[in-house]
Amino acid sequence: PRASAFLLSEYPAFPPLRGPCSALTVQLMPPSFKQPLHEGSMRQWPTRTIAVANQKGGVGKTTTAINLGTALAAVGKDVLILDLDPQGNASTGLGIEPRARANNAYRLLMGTASLAETAAPTPVPGLKMIPSVADLSGADLELASVPRREFQLRNRLAGNVHNFDYVIIDCPPALGLLTLNALVAAESLLVPLQCEFFALEGLSQLIGTMRRIKHVFNPSLGLLGIVLTMYDTRNSLSDQVAKDVRSVMGNQVYDTVIPRNVRVSEAPSHGKPVILYDTSCTGSRSYLKLAGELLRREGTRVAA
Ligand code: ADP
Ligand code: MG
Repeated sequence: PRASAFLLSEYPAFPPLRGPCSALTVQLMPPSFKQPLHEGSMRQWPTRTIAVANQKGGVGKTTTAINLGTALAAVGKDVLILDLDPQGNASTGLGIEPRARANNAYRLLMGTASLAETAAPTPVPGLKMIPSVADLSGADLELASVPRREFQLRNRLAGNVHNFDYVIIDCPPALGLLTLNALVAAESLLVPLQCEFFALEGLSQLIGTMRRIKHVFNPSLGLLGIVLTMYDTRNSLSDQVAKDVRSVMGNQVYDTVIPRNVRVSEAPSHGKPVILYDTSCTGSRSYLKLAGELLRREGTRVAA
């Protein structure tokens, strides 16, 4: 009840759609989303593919991919999460057992399984996932000799993702061929940034890489935004870093900040997004708010 009051105060009302937390999250949807794209569809525009990337590990990429995906599914979007990290944290965090990963992101990338074969249901209604396997760690080398190796993922997704409103790609913590494939396949980059001392240095390298990829391979690529994660209110460094990032990156930084919250770190061991594990904790509320901000920003982008 606390969470719903919180959300109600922040967002315009919208009728409930579906999902275990729909009652809490329906308020996230801006009024412009009421109009269906065409008969029988709630879609406003073609599939949006978002790469969640940062070459640093442990900054909240996987947590953001899972919980943003869950929040978008809860407001009625059809969402696919593609786990492109060989470590498979997103797959584990969404409760996909290792034995249920026979059809996986590696096979999709290599073209030995189709998108329809690899996209598996998750505990979240409306959210599907293509799980990762350790084989993905060899993909860099295996793709090295393939012609147009940067376009492999893009080619696999092309024409096969029309059933989804959002495809969210959880990238590994490196700027190797896997992340390159994700950024060539995506039209936007979402960067989780941990509020710590070297955050800005890594960010300028990442944005430089994004610009080169845009220039050489994927003209439609853009920066969706930067999300400050693991913000610690008791730590003045968090606050200083947040201010610095905002002064450099302006409104490309989301207003919503994800605080450090122990429930967020507990959730993956239960195979659930924190939004299902503890819907009303501060971590869940922040991710729901983040999804609301993303939808609102997209609404204004399309209207503009
Ligand atoms: P990445 O995918 O960038 O490596 P993760 O999303 O896996 O980062 O997060 C790294 C670790 O930090 C994980 O153990 C995760 O559970 C934890 N974590 C992520 N976000 C938060 C948060 N807001 N509060 C507390 N722990 C978090
Ligand atoms: Mg990760």
